[in-house]
Amino acid sequence: MSSAKHGATADDISWRASVDPGSLPYREGEEPWSREEVDEVIDELLADIAKQQTAIAVAERELADLRDGTDGAGRDPADVGSSNFERDQEMSLVHSAREMLEQSLSALRAIRTGHYGSCENCGQPIGKGRLQVFPRANLCVTCKQREERR
Ligand SMILES: [Zn+2]
Repeated sequence: MSSAKHGATADDISWRASVDPGSLPYREGEEPWSREEVDEVIDELLADIAKQQTAIAVAERELADLRDGTDGAGRDPADVGSSNFERDQEMSLVHSAREMLEQSLSALRAIRTGHYGSCENCGQPIGKGRLQVFPRANLCVTCKQREERR
């Protein structure tokens, strides 16, 4: 047995065989989802989740190191300034990795429950083409663009 640890929700994906590709929405002009395409999206999401969990763990370790280092006496103010900058960078890295992780996990849940591929805003199909590039997308292109313009 391997002792490799997996993320909490990525542990059990035995449900993937029970996903019905034909039930997933796709846009007009696209072919319906095939089993392989769904599997690819699941694999991609699992890989993303692992990557994001690693990124979070690394950044949190860096943050802990930076925290431990800030009390050091006789530090050059320039060092303090650059470690504040580093800390801010690590914090925004953790923040965006957490956000992406949340999106990936929720995309995976959506596949499992058969709700994957519909825009959370307008309910229209997000489209296979877009999901194959951004498997964790939860908005269609139109709604995404509208959101970005806000
Ligand atoms: Zn939409």
